[in-house]
Amino acid sequence: MKKTQLPKPKSKKNPKLSRIDHLDKEYDLIIIGGGITGANVLWDATLRGFKCLLVEKSDYASGTSQATSKLIHGGLRYLKNLEFSLVRESLKERRVLAKIGPHSVRPLGFIIPIHSFFERIVLWAGMLLYNFLSFDRNQEIVSDTHIPRFIWNSKSETIYKSFPLSRNSLIGSYQYYDYMNINPEYHTCEFIFSAKARGAHALNYTNVNYITKQYSGGYSINVSDTETGKERTVSAKVVVNCAGPWADIIEAMAGISTEKKILRSKGIHAVVRNICSKECIILKKKDGSHLFVIPWRNQTIIGTTDTIFDNHPDSFEVTESEIKNLLDEVNSSFGLAPLKLDDVVYYYGGLRPLVEDADSKKETYSASRKSEIMNYTAEGFAGFFSALGGKYTTSRNVSEKLMDQVSFFLKKEKILCQSDKQTLLGGDYMSRKELVEQLTTQFPNENSLKLETLAGRYGRESFRILLLSGKEKYQLPNGELLYEEEIDYAVKFLDILHATDFYFRRSGAGTVGKINAMDRKKIDEKLAKGLGWDMKRARIEASLVDKRYEWAK
Ligand SMILES: Cc1cc2nc3c(=O)[nH]c(=O)nc-3n(C[C@H](O)[C@H](O)[C@H](O)COP(=O)(O)OP(=O)(O)OC[C@H]3O[C@@H](n4cnc5c(N)ncnc54)[C@H](O)[C@@H]3O)c2cc1C
Repeated sequence: MKKTQLPKPKSKKNPKLSRIDHLDKEYDLIIIGGGITGANVLWDATLRGFKCLLVEKSDYASGTSQATSKLIHGGLRYLKNLEFSLVRESLKERRVLAKIGPHSVRPLGFIIPIHSFFERIVLWAGMLLYNFLSFDRNQEIVSDTHIPRFIWNSKSETIYKSFPLSRNSLIGSYQYYDYMNINPEYHTCEFIFSAKARGAHALNYTNVNYITKQYSGGYSINVSDTETGKERTVSAKVVVNCAGPWADIIEAMAGISTEKKILRSKGIHAVVRNICSKECIILKKKDGSHLFVIPWRNQTIIGTTDTIFDNHPDSFEVTESEIKNLLDEVNSSFGLAPLKLDDVVYYYGGLRPLVEDADSKKETYSASRKSEIMNYTAEGFAGFFSALGGKYTTSRNVSEKLMDQVSFFLKKEKILCQSDKQTLLGGDYMSRKELVEQLTTQFPNENSLKLETLAGRYGRESFRILLLSGKEKYQLPNGELLYEEEIDYAVKFLDILHATDFYFRRSGAGTVGKINAMDRKKIDEKLAKGLGWDMKRARIEASLVDKRYEWAK
């Protein structure tokens, strides 16, 4: 397999040209939406040799894909709904994601507290089935990311592993494993940048305004650069709508009316001080649904919620009362030190695009997380596809199935999918230990913590990062360090237009809480210099970052 490497940064010859001036007139495929679904379609289509453009109205991974519980998981709870094929699909994809980008995932233990013998028997059957469905979990996977078999913890072992858990009627716990996705926002970008490295075009902050069906076949798509307001019309033989919770709005824009409705379900998370040890604890909420208490980057994520959202997706916000409710749920299950609003260092949320018969559902927790690919040929829109619903975990498989259809539509034949084999940017290495050893040989003057941190964040891309300028390091609130070269790398290669892109969707440095003022100032200055901002612009950018730590009252 060919290695995936980023091209050299382009020199900015004519800064007056808008980014959309560089687009071609015609593409095989235009992909609308730069979340994980669009990113996967772009990557798969590029590997199959199609000429593609992806447009994203905001930043990449700023929609639902930044809202996950950061889990790459089979979905144990879907076994209860007898959704065996969804669980098998998810477990297969869990393995594929570890194979193509091992630096992005870490095995994570999940503890399910058990309170009765009956519960123990039911869960034991569930564990066996989950284990059976993931029989190939470690095939072709680097050893650091191997997933162990489930285990039973006695009462005292459970208390040791999940100290704050209430001990009322506790008899023990099951512990099974899935993956944690350390930085899903950057992970999504890795699919996009891997495709760009092989010639695909992708633009963030580029809105699709309208879509017109051409008489000659194909579609004209009017897009605007939201930074400059400049518009441009491009055409494509195929449109792939990956707009997640906005997908029905895109369909309506093209003139498509469909029976299936998107049901939007709101989910939020709070990042709080570290309240658990190494394993994720699964708690039962008052309404019978589940809540995860997830150890993540030396902090704890609690979530999520699941409520119907009826408004326009652009009006999404997280309110203080929703965060308080989340804290109350944890406080009622955990015996010690109750969480307060002051313990919340960051929060986030998003909308699940669920494909359901909207009228038949009163709640969304039990709605299926299965995906749906819509082909609108029968409605008179040949070459218009939508990829709806699903999970972050299964998005690669959705794109594979979709691209099988698109290949047939464009070439009248099935072109072999490679996205299940081809490693992503940085993913090409045998084990993290070996990678760090190679880094140490090439950069003997760098300290081991730095090399290990970069290898864990970027995989093989660390070689390129360490060649960049800067020797400073900055302290993050979770105890991790951010290195100056990472800023340079993001500025040069990662399509950053705003400071928020850097803090929340590339480095992830802002997602673990507010950085101390002195280091923030230095990072902001480096970003401003790299991106050519004057003082006024730099101030606005910094205030937008600060705003991200406030919630709606
Ligand atoms: C609270 C929560 C927790 C979750 N946890 C998990 C988990 O742990 N594991 C898991 O596997 N899955 C999880 N999911 C599901 C997962 O997040 C989604 O399935 C997935 O992110 C959907 O990605 P997407 O690309 O389809 O949509 P999105 O990420 O929303 O991407 C759609 C994009 O389209 C863009 N767009 C919209 N209109 C336009 C336009 N006019 N022009 C250009 N661009 C446009 C939007 O800006 C957006 O970025 C969770 C979901 C939620 C809400």
